[in-house]
Amino acid sequence: MTALSDCLTNLHSEAGGAIELIVVRPVDAPELVAYALAGDQQAVRIFEALSNASRAVENAPKRKPLLCATCPRALRGTAFTFGIVLPMRDDPQSGVAFGICVKCGTSAEVLQAKATAALHKIWPNLVPVDITHPEGGRA
Ligand SMILES: [Zn+2]
Repeated sequence: MTALSDCLTNLHSEAGGAIELIVVRPVDAPELVAYALAGDQQAVRIFEALSNASRAVENAPKRKPLLCATCPRALRGTAFTFGIVLPMRDDPQSGVAFGICVKCGTSAEVLQAKATAALHKIWPNLVPVDITHPEGGRA
């Protein structure tokens, strides 16, 4: 596994200042898989990031589990949400992911706010911008 500081450095240089935060709740997984199977490359990238992050959670030592990004609880099982951060470009090569436990929220609105706050904690200089996708985009 690459050190977090290396991941952030790679992500930052690749992003050129523009990153995207994607929040994936367990209930969003079937739709994500459907998009990926339909050939949506962004969905494939998010799914790969999610798979890698899930593996990291599963493989974490029992005595040193990965923690929720917004509280001190350990991430266990599969009922938690992932925040995936990717460079905002067509062919991102790096990204970071973090988990938010079910006790910290289950609604899309709460989790989006908590994921944004968690990202600000690790990356304090972020400035959110709204971008209107010509094709309507997706959350
Ligand atoms: Zn939590």
